[in-house]
Amino acid sequence: MNDQRTNLLGLNKTQLEAFFLNLGEKPFRAAQLQKWMHQQGVIEFDAMSNVSKALRERLKEVAEIRPPTIRERFDAQDGCYKWIVEVQSGSGVEMVYIPEAGRGTLCISSQAGCSLDCSFCATGKQGFNSDLSAAEIIGQLWLANQELGIFGKRSAARITNVVMMGMGEPLLNFDNVLSAIDLMMDDNAYGLSKRRVTISTSGVVPAIERLHEYTDASLALSLHAPNDALRDQIVPINRKYPIKMLLASVKGYLDRLPDSRVATIEYILISGVNDHRQHARELAELLRDVPCKINLIPFNPFEGSAYRRSSNAAISTFRKLLLDAGYTVTIRTTRGDEIGAACGQLVGQVDDRTRRSARHLAAQAVREAAAPQPVTIR
Ligand code: SAH
Ligand code: SF4
Repeated sequence: MNDQRTNLLGLNKTQLEAFFLNLGEKPFRAAQLQKWMHQQGVIEFDAMSNVSKALRERLKEVAEIRPPTIRERFDAQDGCYKWIVEVQSGSGVEMVYIPEAGRGTLCISSQAGCSLDCSFCATGKQGFNSDLSAAEIIGQLWLANQELGIFGKRSAARITNVVMMGMGEPLLNFDNVLSAIDLMMDDNAYGLSKRRVTISTSGVVPAIERLHEYTDASLALSLHAPNDALRDQIVPINRKYPIKMLLASVKGYLDRLPDSRVATIEYILISGVNDHRQHARELAELLRDVPCKINLIPFNPFEGSAYRRSSNAAISTFRKLLLDAGYTVTIRTTRGDEIGAACGQLVGQVDDRTRRSARHLAAQAVREAAAPQPVTIR
């Protein structure tokens, strides 16, 4: 096999048109191919009946359609599925399907591991291995469609929403994520509404600042702390891009959207760390000028973490203070917990290249020896 063949799965409309022009073909071939791949689930050129035999032969020489593969699948009692998806680098990344009344959300990964090391995140504690290619990112949606038997049945669309909240920081894999997002929203591919495709970021400010040039997808911001002193500790990228700069970039993105969509502010509630009444008041003050709704996420524990989830009473009080300040507040229900599919529990199978996982385990052992039940900020 010729390794130079182009994987067509991850090419957005513009890229696929350029590919066909390069072959001396008309650009409309792009839409034809997209429909076969992303709406019918067809990855064999020979099955594409409206493509001439000559072109199919040519395509077989220069191109391929190669989704990633599924290594393992877990089914939760509550209807959630989690898959471990094998990517080119040899890592396993995770994707999760969450069915709810009237909609189905697919949570997908953008990187194998993550380089950002947020103190509460299992993926971050694992370190970083590689960026996913655009084909591996959109390939997760392709695989989920195949697994759920959706291809070729537009009326049975069970994936209505996609959130980039799996493993990795999407805005650190900008080009590949943006090509995949184009395909999610393309009517010749998955045709999802821009309101239902969400990029979640921990705050890569330069990328947020140029995001509007490439997409108008929805934005979620993993804020998790109402001031720089605390955010510096639990979301380390804050030391580089502090809150004021971050919120300005988010407002800039929202201002340029053609509609009045708001950002989702994600806020994990960790007992004794960021869940005090004073934190809620500070948060209410901080977000006064940011068009947003707030999504509170009770911390999901994972092995090796000393953090604990906030009590139900603390969660209720936090929520009430924000509601009283006039915010729309939702609390993310924990789904897929028993299969390790809840937010922040995704670890897949990543060979850490940063050696962070080893450092994390060593540091954890020291902490445990010093204090059996610490609930501290690292
Ligand atoms: N890197 C991106 C997207 C992936 S993380 C980001 O940080 O936004 C997706 C969401 O899961 C984020 O809001 C993240 O903060 C949250 N999360 C991470 N660890 C968690 C945990 N242990 N419990 C609950 N949510 C967690
Ligand atoms: Fe990376 Fe997001 Fe986890 Fe932070 S929360 S370590 S940015 S995946």
